[in-house]
Amino acid sequence: MNLLQIKDLRYIWHPCSQMKDYEDFPPIIIERGEGVFLYDTEGKRYLDAISSWWVNLFGHNNKRINRAIKNQIEKLEHVIFANFSHKPAIELAERIVNITPEGLNKVFFADNGSSAIEVALKLSFQYFQQIGKIKKTKFAAITNAYHGETLGALSVGNIDLYSKIYKPLLLNTFKVEGPDCYRCKYNLSRETCSAECFEHMEKTIIEHHEEIAGIVIEPMVQGAAGMKIYSSVYLKKLREICDEYDIHLIADEIAVGFGRTGKMFACEHAGISPDIMCLSKGLTAGYLPLSLTLMTDKIYEAFYDEYTTLKAFLHSHSYTGNPISCAVACETLNIFEEESIIEKNEIKSELINEKVKELLLDIPYVGEFRQIGMIGAIELVKDKDTKESFDWRERVGYKIYKIALKYGVLLRPLGNVIYFMPPYVINDEQIELMVNVARKAIKEYFGL
Ligand SMILES: *Cc1c(COP(=O)(O)O)cnc(C)c1O
Repeated sequence: MNLLQIKDLRYIWHPCSQMKDYEDFPPIIIERGEGVFLYDTEGKRYLDAISSWWVNLFGHNNKRINRAIKNQIEKLEHVIFANFSHKPAIELAERIVNITPEGLNKVFFADNGSSAIEVALKLSFQYFQQIGKIKKTKFAAITNAYHGETLGALSVGNIDLYSKIYKPLLLNTFKVEGPDCYRCKYNLSRETCSAECFEHMEKTIIEHHEEIAGIVIEPMVQGAAGMKIYSSVYLKKLREICDEYDIHLIADEIAVGFGRTGKMFACEHAGISPDIMCLSKGLTAGYLPLSLTLMTDKIYEAFYDEYTTLKAFLHSHSYTGNPISCAVACETLNIFEEESIIEKNEIKSELINEKVKELLLDIPYVGEFRQIGMIGAIELVKDKDTKESFDWRERVGYKIYKIALKYGVLLRPLGNVIYFMPPYVINDEQIELMVNVARKAIKEYFGL
């Protein structure tokens, strides 16, 4: 361990980690980044195959984004957002309303994904209180959902790893069996099924709609669950039934927004508009904390009244609408428009598909390869026929991750799911490197 690593471990508690692991695997101290690569203090380079936790879009140290920050910082770094406003926020709100699904016309600002979810839950709850449907106090979410790690967000998540210990502190939420396409109980394929598994959601809603304010869902891909991709038919059915029973469809596009799934927003795959939509992560191309919660006019109007009626939405964060973050988000949208990112990603995503098929599918432990746009994932299993998983205590993914780092690729799998979610600036040669190292690391782990 070098001195920086020693000091790091003396003072810092890292996220999503058992700190004891760092004893024999000290933190990698990154000094600089360039495009898809990160460089540590010793000059070793790592290809960032997971976009630094799904946030980076156009590479590290991106010249356009850097310039946008410099330009903004010369003018205004931050200002109170109550009664005050500024050009970057106004421009961003207008442009976001214009590119998101129809009907989402108002924008509320916060500074991280979990907070955007908190805003959505509070808005939905308060809306129904104010229109007189006071029994609508609960939320529903599907199995394996992930919506962030504050207490409200954990309440609508369904991954025990993050939430189990906190159960006594969490809201009482309806947990509904969701799609599980790799292990489909109906033996259908996600490309051609009619989301038969929606029957569980239908049942819950029919029984409990009077109590349900909103349903929170990650459209098309359940990210933290292991990049579980499901059919757009599920979302279409959800939109219909939410309309029928006056339930808010809350789309969590924090991970899948901004082109990740091949469309600007994942809801576009199903052609639906949610009532509330949460955005963060790619919003600032991986540079700065910022999140947005968008909603319909109908929701907004239920809060619009004299101050003394106490109908206002009194949610706020100190850094709400930070001008530097907003300027970066505007530049992010410029890059999408001026550099035809979505179109170019189509070709890159095809190459990832080809390379994975060529290099990984012959490995006996690769149970499934699933892909949508710029997300590709392979699920490792003990037995391809039975689809039996490795016990989580074996830490198969984690061990493969450590091997891949040795060869200069940052994979950081989700359990036994190894996935590729690279910055959109990745080129052909780098795609090949990324998949090749994954192959090498998996084979080395299994001794193949
Ligand atoms: C990352 C993520 C969140 C939480 O965002 P944070 O900024 O990490 O709080 C919520 N929902 C989804 C789908 C996410 O991927």
